[in-house]
Amino acid sequence: MAKTKHTGPIKLSKKPDPSLWVSKVPFGITKIKPHHIRDTMKVVWENKDNLPYATRIITQGVCDGCALGVQGLKDQTLAGPHLCTTRLNVLRLNTMKAMKEDIIHADIDELRKMDSTELRKLGRIPYPLIRKPGDRKFSRISWDEALDTIAKKIKKIDPKQYAFYLTSRGITNESYYVAGKVARFLGTNNIDNASRICHSPSKTALTRSVGIGASSCNYKDWIGTDVLVFWGSVAANNQPVSTKYMYAAKRKGTKIIIINPYYEPSMDNYWVPSIPESALFGTKIADDVYQVNIGGDIAFMHGIMKHWFEMEEEEKGSAIDYAFVEKHVNGLEELREKVTRYEWEQLEKSSGLSRERMGELAKLLAKSNSAVFVWSMGLTQHRFGTDNVSQVANLALLRGFLGREHCGLMPIRGHSGVQGSGEMGADPFSLPGGAMDDEGRKRVGKVWGFDIPTWQGDIVGVSLENALLPEDHERKLKLYYMSGGNFLETMPEPDFVKKCLESVDIRVHQDIIFNTSTFVDAKEAVIVLPAMTRYEQPGGGTSTSTERMVYFSPEIKGPRIEEARSEWEIYVDLAKRVKPEDEELIKFKDAYEVRDEIGKTAPNYDGIQHLKENGDLFQWGGAWLCEGGVCPTPDGKGNLIPVEIPELRKPEGHFYVTTRRGKQFNSMIYGEKDPFNNADRYDVLMNEEDGKKHDIEEGDAIVVYNKYGTFNGRAKFVPIREGNIEVHWPEGNPLIPKGVYEEYAGIPEYNAAVIVEKAETYFAHKDTKYVEKRVEELEMEIS
Ligand code: SF4
Repeated sequence: MAKTKHTGPIKLSKKPDPSLWVSKVPFGITKIKPHHIRDTMKVVWENKDNLPYATRIITQGVCDGCALGVQGLKDQTLAGPHLCTTRLNVLRLNTMKAMKEDIIHADIDELRKMDSTELRKLGRIPYPLIRKPGDRKFSRISWDEALDTIAKKIKKIDPKQYAFYLTSRGITNESYYVAGKVARFLGTNNIDNASRICHSPSKTALTRSVGIGASSCNYKDWIGTDVLVFWGSVAANNQPVSTKYMYAAKRKGTKIIIINPYYEPSMDNYWVPSIPESALFGTKIADDVYQVNIGGDIAFMHGIMKHWFEMEEEEKGSAIDYAFVEKHVNGLEELREKVTRYEWEQLEKSSGLSRERMGELAKLLAKSNSAVFVWSMGLTQHRFGTDNVSQVANLALLRGFLGREHCGLMPIRGHSGVQGSGEMGADPFSLPGGAMDDEGRKRVGKVWGFDIPTWQGDIVGVSLENALLPEDHERKLKLYYMSGGNFLETMPEPDFVKKCLESVDIRVHQDIIFNTSTFVDAKEAVIVLPAMTRYEQPGGGTSTSTERMVYFSPEIKGPRIEEARSEWEIYVDLAKRVKPEDEELIKFKDAYEVRDEIGKTAPNYDGIQHLKENGDLFQWGGAWLCEGGVCPTPDGKGNLIPVEIPELRKPEGHFYVTTRRGKQFNSMIYGEKDPFNNADRYDVLMNEEDGKKHDIEEGDAIVVYNKYGTFNGRAKFVPIREGNIEVHWPEGNPLIPKGVYEEYAGIPEYNAAVIVEKAETYFAHKDTKYVEKRVEELEMEIS
């Protein structure tokens, strides 16, 4: 394990640097940009009925927004306040009062008319509810009735026929840990979490490449590294305070490189509200933007490496760090063979970038002494997501950008709880402290005092599909227990997902609010359980950030929803009802006892047992994983992994579509317009040249379709790589095929080939034969 400890926040220079300004016009008045002050005032107004509590949450709690991580207003990277509008936007979820009775018990069809944004504003779920087939509305039940109903069902069915799922926003490590333990105590390994649909390939790839499952470095390493690369990551929008770190990096001379199909405006220029100079005049962030094809990243990285190998032929040591590679890396020859076998033409076609452009980044990285690679869904949400991430690791290993200051591999996370979910074992492939293998089962089973089932549990997508299996199938999903989450908005093909949700006998929604999936029927019952927020949980809770900081978030004094309960306590209560004879094995006196046990089962988390007070934290693994180049792999070396260029499945004249986020936090939408580019939720971002080719003009109504679904939107011309289009997530999900999972990590594919047509043409030929023929052509050209 690493020796060096994180050294804490650094101070930003107060002296302005006009060379980084976007414009001399203050506040970017003439530019399209977010209005942070206006947004903040809106939040103050929203929370006016509970301002003192809201203030205490902000100043004492650990942010329940993204996973950048902040305790109160302080982080471990830069001195000075850390706050953003994402945090302020989710604040209301914590301060709202309970829903009104007439809303809770309204006719189900009335509730179904509301979208998730409207539902979120209704208030908190106040008490347990049940709705059975034929019921027009939810009825109130007691906790005993609710948990007994669930326990009775669990007792009746095979453990392979029920599953648990936990989302990631406000959930604490304690709840993940207890849920993971309870699932195994009951006898099931069907437990999964939200990282399955975001960063599961990062964990899988980093484990096979360098033996780690988390970021190897810190945000502080961004500041002063030679090159900071954001690959398929719009951190400015999804982790807004990261722009402050980018500003600090620019001040230290770091070059920032963006790789994305769309020239995202927020990664180009940003007005950082907490830095006066930047708030006034903006900061130029991107030094260069490489507009790669959707799915063209592997080819792009092959191109960079091919350049390196060619440079090496001219001058040994001009590109590859041989001292590092010889000592710390396996597989150089195999990788060289794979990379050099590809022709430039093939790499250019797949990546969408010229050989010369690939050469520019290759040379920049070759002459740099340090680099940090940051990536996100643009790399992971593919059917080859694990290969994408291993390619990034290949780049870092060849250049020795690992295990030292200003170097590293960072999968930047979007949900505050998500880093801890797998690390706590709420995952079909993991147990606390390691993999779900014989050694892991033995190690953890010893602490838990019971045998952990040996069969392989299912990932979330497969669990959902299992709901459609025949009644007598051993894996037919009959009970689905969900802590938060809304599969109707996060999984591909929502109509299919609805069918799956309806086919379950009992569905449990443990949550703080209603969402659209709460109203889907079930065969026997839908049970809704009111959960506490992380700030309400007695004994507090912990949350792990992207950079592996484990932050303690205290219980915060304030109003309470009377019947809401701590999530981990609900799991324990359920377990006791299913197996009362073994209840001693699953008991926890309080949250402190949960943390004590985490410290014992997850060696990385040894130290969590000492987190008790506001401000307590530690970083697991020290400042750098793989410190000194030594990887926690069986032979201590990193593995270069040769990967194939994926078949892009994008025929001439058709498009490849991917999804992007606008004014939203994950699937929670906060505004119809994206403040960075003025795009509406139903705008289709496309290149003007593509528009010309298809006789489409800006603002035209267009239809995007394939055999999975259709999307009716309007053309918006933006600087995006030709042949690629972007639509907002989750609205664009009907275009995404169901049941296509990445081979190693099980993330669903979130991209597809599509046809784009002017609405007038599409509707003029609306007969299904025309559409079917067009889709057939698309399929034929693909195969
Ligand atoms: S950047 Fe992320 S962690 Fe920081 S305040 Fe915003 S939502 Fe919270």
